[in-house]
Amino acid sequence: MRYRELKRCGNLKVSEIALGCEGFVEKTPEEFREMFDRALALGINFIDMYTPNPRFRDNLGAAIAGRREKLVLQGHICAVWENGQYLRTRDLKKAKEAFEDQLHRLGTDYLDIGMIHYVDGESDFQEVFHGDIITYCKELKAEGKIRAIGLSSHNPLIARKAVETGLVDVLMFSVNAAYDMQPASEDCNALFDPATYRNGFAGMNPERKSLYELCEKENVAIDVMKVFGGGDMLKAELSPFGVVFNEYQCIEYCLTRPGVVAVMAGCRSIPEMEKAVSYYDASQTERDYSLVLSQMDKFKFHGNCMYCGHCAPCSVGINVADVNKYLNLCLAQGEVPETVADHYKLLPHHAGECVACGRCERNCPFGVYIIPKMKKAVEIFGY
Ligand code: SF4
Ligand code: SF4
Repeated sequence: MRYRELKRCGNLKVSEIALGCEGFVEKTPEEFREMFDRALALGINFIDMYTPNPRFRDNLGAAIAGRREKLVLQGHICAVWENGQYLRTRDLKKAKEAFEDQLHRLGTDYLDIGMIHYVDGESDFQEVFHGDIITYCKELKAEGKIRAIGLSSHNPLIARKAVETGLVDVLMFSVNAAYDMQPASEDCNALFDPATYRNGFAGMNPERKSLYELCEKENVAIDVMKVFGGGDMLKAELSPFGVVFNEYQCIEYCLTRPGVVAVMAGCRSIPEMEKAVSYYDASQTERDYSLVLSQMDKFKFHGNCMYCGHCAPCSVGINVADVNKYLNLCLAQGEVPETVADHYKLLPHHAGECVACGRCERNCPFGVYIIPKMKKAVEIFGY
């Protein structure tokens, strides 16, 4: 397992492969415990708890007893349990009761991330950020009941506005190669609707791209939901691309986006968790999503780096995908942020070492002119 830092959350380290909670909800306490123990043994330390289901909370509370400190818990504020089912609300009283219920059932006095649940619409954004809910979250953070404020969304425009408030430390966002090519919408169901994809793909949506870059710049950690598109990406008959992405390609795609720290894999069984974590044993070829995308009939993204790494190996060992990522972050922001300069410095080889052999360009399925990019990186970073 590899870990990345939540930079605005005391540099807490979270496993790159983390858990969504949906696969646990229907489990008996014994099944829950067995699956959770296996998750920890695999090195997973990060779990999202969007569901307010009391049975889930009780089972998780029992499973984490005595080892709370080893875990990074992401709970959702405004997801409540009413009449035996999940409900999203902005009612402060209900949100408070649900939060206290969560702490109580988990047997803890704090959550690492208090995630404002599911904000996709403009009016909802206004209500949350100019009303009681954000005030409540700030109070919870000041009291130490949450260490970070998060927000979950499927809409890049709303997510961006939330990040721009400066109040959001962690963003839970729906990311996969198919969603990334769709424009912003207040209706997240459009993302899951096959009709959305009938006109093909025109490349990465600029609003999503710039959201990820902003998060990287502001040290807002993105944890990913819908990494497998609810499973659709893994089945040819359901995949928006009409071809299967394997689990490794889905995970690799997300972990190579700027700002992303973890994918919340919605595993429903121990074998599914083991499959997700076997990403680390997969070959570069098995993880490579570039050929699937570049061979799509209607996919037009010529000349834009997708950070896929397919151009490797470089003759002198430069990690072209990372250099391009850091370069693009600087170009998008019109400056060289200190954090990006630090990341660049830590690379074992730098753009200045490029001997212009052209090997990488011959390997790039997206037709990126890499040599000019290496020159631009030297211009920007100085080496
Ligand atoms: S230059 Fe091409 S092959 Fe290399 S990471 Fe970018 S898109 Fe992928
Ligand atoms: S052109 Fe430069 S970046 Fe590409 S393989 Fe050759 S040395 Fe590496």
